[in-house]
Amino acid sequence: MKIRKNDTVLVIAGKDKGKKGKVRFAYPKDERVLVDGINLIKRHTRAKGTVRQAGIIEREDPIRVSNLMLLCNKCNHPTRIGFRLLKDGRKVRVCRSCGEVID
Ligand SMILES: [Zn+2]
Repeated sequence: MKIRKNDTVLVIAGKDKGKKGKVRFAYPKDERVLVDGINLIKRHTRAKGTVRQAGIIEREDPIRVSNLMLLCNKCNHPTRIGFRLLKDGRKVRVCRSCGEVID
């Protein structure tokens, strides 16, 4: 998957369009990621002992990767991602705007 944990991403579609956030968790199988402060949903919870409080809490819901663009940590632009094979056989991600290696 092109977007990974700890990446900073820009939302390009949906209700949070234009917002930025950091990827907290990636679900490669579902092509979704959990981004801090993005795609908040309201959850009604019931008290479960002393661990959980009853009421409505807001939490993030995983968002589809296709709704996101990676913000390059080198040039700071939302960018598409390319891949490059290094001499040692590692495959790294590169920024399509500035050409820098992202990983
Ligand atoms: Zn860049």
